[in-house]
Amino acid sequence: MKYYSTKQQTPPVSLREAVLKGLPADNGLFMPEQIPALPSSFFEKIESLSFQEIAFEVAHNLLSEDIEKEKLKELVENAINFPAPLVSLSENLHILELFHGNTLAFKDFGARFMAQLMGYFVQGNTSTLDILVATSGDTGSAVAHGFLGVPHIHVTVLYPKGKVSNFQEKQFTTLGNNITALEIEGTFDDCQALVKQAFLDTTLNEKLNLSSANSINIARLIPQSFYYFEAYKQLKDKQKPLVFVVPSGNFGNLTAGLFAKKMGLPVHEFIAATNANDVVPEYLHTGNYKPRPSTQTISNAMDVGNPSNFQRMLDLCKGLDSMQAQIKGYAFDDAQTAKAMREVKEKYNYIIDPHGAVGYLALESYINQGNHNINGVVLETAHPVKFAEVVSPEIGQEVAVPERMRYLLEKSKMSIPLGIDFEGFKAFLLQR
Ligand SMILES: *Cc1c(COP(=O)(O)O)cnc(C)c1O
Repeated sequence: MKYYSTKQQTPPVSLREAVLKGLPADNGLFMPEQIPALPSSFFEKIESLSFQEIAFEVAHNLLSEDIEKEKLKELVENAINFPAPLVSLSENLHILELFHGNTLAFKDFGARFMAQLMGYFVQGNTSTLDILVATSGDTGSAVAHGFLGVPHIHVTVLYPKGKVSNFQEKQFTTLGNNITALEIEGTFDDCQALVKQAFLDTTLNEKLNLSSANSINIARLIPQSFYYFEAYKQLKDKQKPLVFVVPSGNFGNLTAGLFAKKMGLPVHEFIAATNANDVVPEYLHTGNYKPRPSTQTISNAMDVGNPSNFQRMLDLCKGLDSMQAQIKGYAFDDAQTAKAMREVKEKYNYIIDPHGAVGYLALESYINQGNHNINGVVLETAHPVKFAEVVSPEIGQEVAVPERMRYLLEKSKMSIPLGIDFEGFKAFLLQR
């Protein structure tokens, strides 16, 4: 299958090119030419399938022309190696826990699958693919873990010294193998500037095969549709209207939900839940799309003022009316979010992170508008321990680091200190 640019100014490309390039030259975003429906037999037998089997069926539905079946099965099994349990808090409130991967957030799904696909496409290459990624914390850890041990690929993570949490730093500085961490004496913007300049540098591009693990790579979106099916599988009463609540920033997760619906998943409606960065809910209410600089909030992974996947949503929905028919928008401020974390703990004895809390608020509002008899599924995008400093004071207790992550705290950091001058960074890349 070919992948076209949402801007339609460049010719469609193969999956391989879309994945390795990340972005089309016309600054649009890659989209599959078709999103075929899955056969009804798939939905009839879904309860008997494992998550990996579901993921394979969905992946095969989109990628069968591009990757041979057995190979695809192997890639999916390597990528989807942790569960996505659905926890029911009440008749109409279910939490889809997407934080059981290595870095405790849903981005592990996208990063792992992208790493597997890139690894597959560079097989047989003589040179190593050099991925450069600047991070303020989370992207670096998801990408580093996703690519760990993938042959023919080397990842260099640049992070600002002293500006990421201890736990985050451990996640990408203790891996070794094909992951190098550079501790930059500067800010996140300095890190990003170094990466940008590297991509423009002639010598570096001659000598190295540079790539970015771009967050809007189509390879990150595809696996994010898998767990919508996995949630449906786990619902006991499948007759009630299914409503997915997606705490959103760049809207990749919600776009992947639209993919799942196109493939036949019986979704009644999506709810786009945001913090104060509410451009999309505002668009859904008024029809005016007004991107603006982002505002800082306690659900900071959603602090996005100009969501990159909005182009894909428009492309899939073909206009405002259709988007309004499929997606409802809600936005909440920090005070409401903090109160919601407390409420979920008190009412259900469940610890929710600030992003999930925004989703919970949106579902409550939706239900209170008369939609009682539904299956509301809130995507819990991160483990609360990642945001312990805002969660703990609200719920009045510590949030424990999951058992399986404790080993990290023992491991020692292996990062290379570097300044912010480009020549130093360039010399480092060339001599490695
Ligand atoms: C990235 C992220 C989001 C936002 O997801 P999008 O796909 O960008 O909308 C929400 N919650 C957490 C914890 C995240 O890391």
